[in-house]
Amino acid sequence: MVKAIVVGAGGRMGRRVIHMILQTPGVGLVGAVEKEGHPVVGRDAADLAGEPEIGIVVSSDLKQATDGAEVIVDFTAPEVSLKSLEIGVQRKLAVVIGTTGFSPEQMERVRTLGPRTRSVIAPNMSVGVNVMFKMVEEMARALGDDYDVEILEAHHRFKKDAPSGTAIKLGETVARALERDLEKVGVWSRKGFIGERNPREIGMAVIRAGDIVGEHTVMFGGIGERLQVTHRAHSRDNFARGAVKAALWVVKQPEGLYDMQDVLGIRGKG
Ligand code: NAD
Repeated sequence: MVKAIVVGAGGRMGRRVIHMILQTPGVGLVGAVEKEGHPVVGRDAADLAGEPEIGIVVSSDLKQATDGAEVIVDFTAPEVSLKSLEIGVQRKLAVVIGTTGFSPEQMERVRTLGPRTRSVIAPNMSVGVNVMFKMVEEMARALGDDYDVEILEAHHRFKKDAPSGTAIKLGETVARALERDLEKVGVWSRKGFIGERNPREIGMAVIRAGDIVGEHTVMFGGIGERLQVTHRAHSRDNFARGAVKAALWVVKQPEGLYDMQDVLGIRGKG
């Protein structure tokens, strides 16, 4: 049995990951961590996920919680996930990070630390979205420069980073396939008399409303037709299922920094 701990245990994702670990054969929960002073510290971890108590109490001491663990699963905030990764490297534990919103500098740190243990980082752990990454890459290559690329994402009102990590990765994937640089061609908002669209730009639009779990559309707009692909997450359980799949997979891999396309065996060319 793979021994896992969950960091961010009281969060929207943390609770679903605990639930999924308890439901999945071959993986067991040996620890759960929340930030100091959070009301769930001291509570039974399974209780947070609406399951019968298992005697694992939520702790605010990450180092101690990793005693006897093999893999850390972390859905928190960038600086917290970097700490998990540092501890994973020090203690030779596998690390699965679902957190988004890393700055370029923080991402550089992930790229330095990640390969020094077995790690998976992915802005979206759902199978459908990872198939979508692969599909949009092929669509962009096939359609080429004659089609305008627009990316739209919608999430719940509590989400802190924008655009979503998934939308950025979709943008980067399409940009790479079209031999463009998202940093240079991304258009992050439009207002006023902005003139005609530059054919090379990639538009990124963001909606925040209510309890939308997560929706992403990539649109290729041509003259006389448009092709678009949309993914809608119905619940957080598909992300949690992906995270548990990643945890079970990564403990068997050599040291390295992987993403969900590696976990699912669907890596694209880009
Ligand atoms: P959330 O705010 O509900 O949960 C984050 C939790 O982390 C909170 O409970 C917070 O108290 C806890 N936390 C903060 N500091 C901590 C610390 N030092 N130690 C331990 N815990 C700490 O947010 P959420 O909706 O669960 O999302 C969390 C992250 O996961 C976000 O970055 C989000 O974008 C991302 N996310 C990724 C995927 C994916 O598939 N990769 C899916 C959904 C959300």
